Amino acid sequence: MEDKILLCLCKMSGREQEFISEAFKENWVVPLGPNVDGFEKDLEEFLLPKKSHRKICALSSGTAAVHLGLVMLGVSKDDEVMVQSLTFSASANPVVYQGGIPVFVDSEKETWNMDPELLDYAIRERERKTGKRPKCIIVVDLYGMPAKMNELLDVANNWEIPVLEDAAEAFGSEYRGIKCGNFGRYGVLSFNGNKMITTSGGGALICPDEKARKLALSYATQSREPVPWYQHERIGFNYRMSNICAGIGRGQMFVAQEHIDHHRKIQDLYRKFFLQIPGITLHENPSQDFNSNFWLCTITIGKEVKIIGDNGCGKPEALRRRLGDLKIETRQIWKPMHLQPYYKENPAYLNGNSENIFENGLCLPASPWVGEAEVERIVEGIKNSLE
Ligand SMILES: *Cc1c(COP(=O)(O)O)cnc(C)c1O
Repeated sequence: MEDKILLCLCKMSGREQEFISEAFKENWVVPLGPNVDGFEKDLEEFLLPKKSHRKICALSSGTAAVHLGLVMLGVSKDDEVMVQSLTFSASANPVVYQGGIPVFVDSEKETWNMDPELLDYAIRERERKTGKRPKCIIVVDLYGMPAKMNELLDVANNWEIPVLEDAAEAFGSEYRGIKCGNFGRYGVLSFNGNKMITTSGGGALICPDEKARKLALSYATQSREPVPWYQHERIGFNYRMSNICAGIGRGQMFVAQEHIDHHRKIQDLYRKFFLQIPGITLHENPSQDFNSNFWLCTITIGKEVKIIGDNGCGKPEALRRRLGDLKIETRQIWKPMHLQPYYKENPAYLNGNSENIFENGLCLPASPWVGEAEVERIVEGIKNSLE
């Protein structure tokens, strides 16, 4: 029997244990220490453009990074925040933690990310309806695909609204040669077990400069004032990364580029094999400006295509079940936030694209554990599922 092909599974470099052992030996088993500092330095070297003033703060999760970014941008009770609807819930939920109101904006077809024209329209409408300008814009680089940053930043700058770039899925992706996470005022990374590199659980906030990083770090460590007793002028959080987790991160940095290259190679393999299947479209970089890490490779199933066993559950679900029987794990596209029961009353500006992608799309396995033989098996499985 063939092994199960998992959607996404991290792979260790083998160097992680060294850093963890070092931490134990030195008794740095706390949420600070040499691994945290070292991992931040590695990240800065890898991600920031030369001469950038940005600084990176390692945190306990990507969700914490989104939340802290909103705190830094001053989002508070009843503030509206424009959020890409087609995303994982962790992009939107921290707005609610702050007592704010996520206002959802649909995607354009090329990158599946926030539609700049619709964003412009939506901001104008919000200002007209509420008399208040939205406080911030959360743009996501979905499945590693960079959003149309040039156009989006034009709109954001025009309205003088800061952008928070949720690059949790886009570690190492590039837009016009610059790594994702560098485009908004703040950028978010995730090192959860299913992301491009892992610290078992973790994240980071890319800050505009050292001063902002200092304040973010203070918030992340309970907002203690620099006096001998425990004094607090602000409400802080316990969001700092553990020195043990950071040790895993340092080990992962040895293979980060290798992993990204591998994901891009898998995308090439899917492209090669899908050319033989009409009706299945691989989601690709729209132009040379975009260089996705292809964290997950995604497809859409054409209107004319019928999946064997589709009893009304929908094409992606029918295909997911068929492939599951073949021990291939796939997953539906994120269900747009405006369709989530919790968010059904929230304002949403829609063009049908995210619903269309959700109803016809599927995420395929991509990880260091997937090679040519696996891609062939997956594509064969898809072929045999079409009526
Ligand atoms: C994974 C993810 C997050 C949250 O990251 P965690 O580290 O899991 O908390 C946020 N946004 C997006 C788009 C994600 O995919």
